[in-house]
Amino acid sequence: MPGTVNAIVPLSLLEAVRSVDIPEGEDVDVEYVQEHRNKRLGLSDTVIAQIRRYKDAMKHNQSIPLHEAGGIARLIGRRPDAESIFIRAGNIVANRMYQLISSTRRQIIHLLPGFLARPLAFRQVKRAGEKYLGASVRRVGASIVLGVKESVTFETAPKGIGCLYYESALREMLKLLVNGGGMIDHVHCRERGEDFCEWRADWRAVKASQ
Ligand SMILES: [Zn+2]
Repeated sequence: MPGTVNAIVPLSLLEAVRSVDIPEGEDVDVEYVQEHRNKRLGLSDTVIAQIRRYKDAMKHNQSIPLHEAGGIARLIGRRPDAESIFIRAGNIVANRMYQLISSTRRQIIHLLPGFLARPLAFRQVKRAGEKYLGASVRRVGASIVLGVKESVTFETAPKGIGCLYYESALREMLKLLVNGGGMIDHVHCRERGEDFCEWRADWRAVKASQ
């Protein structure tokens, strides 16, 4: 549906914020947390309630308005640590998409040698990219190309760093599926005045030993 995104997208953005803002370790000082609760986005009750809402929406296949998800990206974009949060959110969404692939399918991909695993992995990236990220995914020669027209992170952060969300999602997906994670080029970008964002990842860098 145009103008909407899968709930997995805003969910991953908020989960990234939360994971950065909640101090790790078991001996977290409760008073410290209380004191910082309202100062840091990721610790607020609103965020926790929103995370729950998006998880429900995912379960019931309800999509979220694009501008709502964009609003979260904009809040992230204002932070000095925006770059690392977008990268983390991309990793989170990739891990969720990976978990949504049937375990049998994942096992088959891992067991097969690279040249057989890659076409199967490609199909999964294509399916997940279309369904969850609203992306188009295609093969061009030895590359896998992911394009996004309705980017949630467009114009939400300085220097186009919001694009790192999709880039890290693609990188992590390839890493999880075929132990890839080579060079990814951001070949087209809306932040540079083009009509869509597009990334090209080199398949050959994937499982180079096989
Ligand atoms: Zn871009």
